[in-house]
Amino acid sequence: MSCDDDCCGDEFDTPLTELYGSNAFSNAVMRDRVPRNIYREVVAVQNGEKELTLEVADVVALAMRDWAVEKGATHYTHWFHPLTGLTAEKHDAFIAPTGDGNILLEFSGKELIKGEPDASSFPSGGLRATFEARGYTAWDVTSPAFLKQDKTGVTLCIPTAFISYYGHALDKKVPLLKSIDALSKQAIRVLRALGNETSKRAFTTVGPEQEYFLVEKEYYDQRPDLILTGRTVFGALPAKGQEMEDHYFGAIKERVASFMRELNHELWKVGIPAKTQHNEVAPNQFEIAPIYASSSAAVDANQLVMESLHSVARRHGMEALIHEKPFAGVNGSGKHNNWSVATDDGINLFEPGENPESNARFLLFATAVIEAVDRYALLIRSSTATAANEFRLGANEAPPAIVSVFFGGPLTEIFDNIAEGKAGGKSANGDRIKIGVTSLPSLPKDVSDRNRTSPFAFTGNKFEFRMVGSSQSIATPNTYLNVALAQVLAEYADKLEKSSNVNEAIQTIIKESYKAHKKVIFNGNGYADEWVYEAERRGLPNVKSAPDALQVLTRSETVSLFETHGVLTKEELESRYHIYLEKYSKQVNIEAGVTIDLARRYIFPVVTSYAASLAGEASALASIGANNTAPSKRAKKIADLSNELYDEAAKLETVLAEAQGIEDPFAQAKSYSEKVKPAMEAVRSKVDALEKLAAKDVWPFPGYEELLFKL
Ligand code: ADP
Ligand code: MG
Repeated sequence: MSCDDDCCGDEFDTPLTELYGSNAFSNAVMRDRVPRNIYREVVAVQNGEKELTLEVADVVALAMRDWAVEKGATHYTHWFHPLTGLTAEKHDAFIAPTGDGNILLEFSGKELIKGEPDASSFPSGGLRATFEARGYTAWDVTSPAFLKQDKTGVTLCIPTAFISYYGHALDKKVPLLKSIDALSKQAIRVLRALGNETSKRAFTTVGPEQEYFLVEKEYYDQRPDLILTGRTVFGALPAKGQEMEDHYFGAIKERVASFMRELNHELWKVGIPAKTQHNEVAPNQFEIAPIYASSSAAVDANQLVMESLHSVARRHGMEALIHEKPFAGVNGSGKHNNWSVATDDGINLFEPGENPESNARFLLFATAVIEAVDRYALLIRSSTATAANEFRLGANEAPPAIVSVFFGGPLTEIFDNIAEGKAGGKSANGDRIKIGVTSLPSLPKDVSDRNRTSPFAFTGNKFEFRMVGSSQSIATPNTYLNVALAQVLAEYADKLEKSSNVNEAIQTIIKESYKAHKKVIFNGNGYADEWVYEAERRGLPNVKSAPDALQVLTRSETVSLFETHGVLTKEELESRYHIYLEKYSKQVNIEAGVTIDLARRYIFPVVTSYAASLAGEASALASIGANNTAPSKRAKKIADLSNELYDEAAKLETVLAEAQGIEDPFAQAKSYSEKVKPAMEAVRSKVDALEKLAAKDVWPFPGYEELLFKL
């Protein structure tokens, strides 16, 4: 099956340089279309140096409208990230009737800057009284507008932040932008103290590696669990799983390659630099990674990547599964969040340097990350606490729920030596180096090691946070990382600014902080059982359940962290806590409902009549005196299992009703986690056992064999 011509046409013939970004209103496009002074104003706003004025917005809006209309757009939408974790849009046409039967194309600065979707249907966690349903969306100048183009037409999408009438953040973008500002402020303070006079601003860069599965659409359509929950609630593993490890980096099937080709084109058109693609570990599992960008743009781009995975897969007769654990028994899907801090003048603060000054900078910022991850481990863990990711975290093939940092041998040795005030690690030319009072060691050329089992790994010039789930928005994990680092840097800046000898102060900070927080560093196998015990011995938290992990949002340290940096208020944190708990409960509630429904209406009738027909065969065979007890043994086994299935489904129904009746959001989520989920598992084990006994042709839907191995 291949894509029909409407969707990609002869775009494949367009030179890449022409195609790339052709549907993005990038700064380059803006520069060509607005007067020079206006362009400079917008850049100043993007850099946080100025506020956007209506005059400037009017000019940009006009240019944006003309550009969009030339490309066939009829509608525009403020595109935003409500707390559902999805993206939302409400389309308005550009047209304004003139009263004489004609129309004008209208799009003003006001419409660009501010939209008023009816906020009442988005989760607000009680932040918006029902009588005040208004909320508004505000243009996020740091992420380029783009065109969405499909068979139904072309729409101009304007990335926006979503705010309540009283100024509360109702989305995932507002806190992210605020956390970037907070981090920038503190990073620049530290840089100034280190003698840097040139950098004006720091921002985080993010490159998310997105994992997903592809399945045949025809099979997907026959699985109500996949359609309704995104994962299989039943499914017995076939004789072959992923143990042969023959899928990872294997040759990409032609059909998948053709899907990836079109996906890349879609992304390139809107200016998303999709770069790497490969087969993943599990059968029919794949990954796509774009080149990193500023975190605000990267968050938007990742939402578009997820949307495009779905739409392009459908055009190729497949369905993309972005759920964290669509199949039991094979790897789940994550989203490695590669994260770094850069300055406006091009310094990557996590880049080990070539000379003593940049070394000191690197070692100081790296120390700050270690400290931030150790002190805010619970918060960082909580950013990945969703019902879907709970199936993945702690399972043996994925990062465990323990937050630790991988630094690799050489770097850890250097830090250990600094902390002990003795000779450093190996220098670039392999010599041992002495650390004097005022100088730090020069670093070996390649300080990065590889470790695929660490939840938070230093990979040369960035940290890779691997706990994030494949279907999550990356806004929240990045917000928390930014604010945690901002706090530690603020404390460092206080010390450095007060000190009369900066070199000494740097050494002291690194020494003290490293000693206090090195317990979070772990370079070994993060999937090994011993690590769980070792982590416990070190006092590192290991919070497996999502509701428990979310509780950190209500702690006073968390509130003060977010309020100090102006990222979220106590009220906003509380509302988020409730929304995330509710979302968790709703998700498990749906899965439990689907489990009961499928067991009762699909599995039960089939296996009962199958057992009866086997019993019939058994007596028919007995009537002719055949010595064959196989049908009656099988009939008995299946009948017994189906009886147990009936009981387990009834038990699930009881605990589900109990959970549904609980008022308190935390108690309710706990009940879903501790009672409903195990009851669901019990039903599943009966169904999966039955699947292995029943004849293939009586089973009511396609199994793992079809879903995982056929494309
Ligand atoms: P690996 O995971 O093997 O190190 P890459 O080096 O290709 O793979 O990087 C993976 C992802 O990290 C890519 O999306 C890449 O753009 C991103 N990345 C690279 N450098 C940075 C950086 N400085 N900040 C954020 N992301 C980065
Ligand atoms: Mg990686």
